[in-house]
This record gives sequence, structure tokens and C-alpha cells, in this order.
Amino acid sequence: MSFLAPPGQLVVDWDGTITVHDSQWMLLERYGDGEVFSAMEGSLGTTRSYREVMELELATIKAPFAEARQFLLDEVELRAGFRELLARYRPLILSGGFVDTIEPILAREGLEAELVANRLDPRPDGWRIHWRDETPCPVCGDLCKRRYLPEGRPLVYVGDGYSDRCAALAADRVFALPRLGEYLDEQGAPWEPFATFDDIAAALS
Ligand SMILES: [Mg+2]
Ligand SMILES: [Zn+2]
Repeated sequence: MSFLAPPGQLVVDWDGTITVHDSQWMLLERYGDGEVFSAMEGSLGTTRSYREVMELELATIKAPFAEARQFLLDEVELRAGFRELLARYRPLILSGGFVDTIEPILAREGLEAELVANRLDPRPDGWRIHWRDETPCPVCGDLCKRRYLPEGRPLVYVGDGYSDRCAALAADRVFALPRLGEYLDEQGAPWEPFATFDDIAAALS
């Protein structure tokens, strides 16, 4: 029997996890202010909150949304095995990114998935974020993804980066890429590495 037999839940991050490259970083590198971007990433979680960093970074993007959307449609690649994992486990895609930039990629791939993410207000004087919920997480105090984890257990979480930290600590089993794995090691939390979603499907079956 699968580790994820109902009511188990699989939750997967989008940027840098389902996508090979982080699409928010791709947008910032292509359309944003590179100096602000590198300064912000260094201050994330130390001198600035996730919310502040996201808002300051996105405000440096002034490109027309249609152009940015087409850039993502042309450039974003999905990690191998996601289509099969989606068909088998119906994961929740839980992203600190945007419905506006994720849905077009899912549509391009002909995929339908449950998605929880924020929304964009791409103004010409700098993009803004419509946060799905502005109530901070009681554990980390930031606008983190733990707040949206489903109730079912066991909960399996798959992620790569800063925005996955708090949510991953609440999961029963974590599959992580190296950046998140290093943090989990520091916290003494167990995790399993993966390269493709086939690895995860095999580990869960
Ligand atoms: Mg990510
Ligand atoms: Zn949190």
C-alpha cells in the first residue's frame, strides 16, 4: 500500500520544485532590478521578512504582464515526472508565487491541479502582490505556506527553498532539493533528496 493512501496528502511547491528553474527569479532577472534582487535574497529571513522581500523585489518589475507571461510560456520547464505524479496522487500545488503566472503554464501542459497561491497586480509603475491572506503564521510570524497545509495525514511535502521552510517542518515526510535540505539539517529535521518526481513516486509507492 502507498505511503499516501487516503487521507494522506501530497503538497508540492511550484517554483524551483515543479519548475526546473524558479519562475519568479526568471522574471526578476529578465525584467526586475538585479541589484535589488541580489541584496534582497541576502537579507531574506535575517533583516527582512519574506513578505518585505517579495514586495520589494516585485515592485522592480514594470513590464507589461502579457509580455512577461509570454516569456514564461516560452521558457519555463517542468521537472520530469510531474505529469505522472499529478495523475497518481493529485497533489496540492502550494506556491508563494502567483496564480496569474502558474495557471498559464499548467494550461500549456494540459494539466489541471488544485492550486493555492497569491495573485499579482502588475501595475506599470511596479508590480504589487495581492496576498491570499495577510494574517501571519503563528509559528514563524511571516506570510508562510504552513497556513495553507491541508488537514489530511500523513502529509508529504516537496520543496526547494526559503518559502518552504516552515511548512516542511510541519510535514510527516519531506522531499527536498539541496537548499531546503541544508536548512532542515540545521533544524535536525529528516528529509529525503530527489531529482525527479519519478523518484518521489517510487519512494511513496
Ligand atoms: Mg520554490
Ligand atoms: Zn510559518
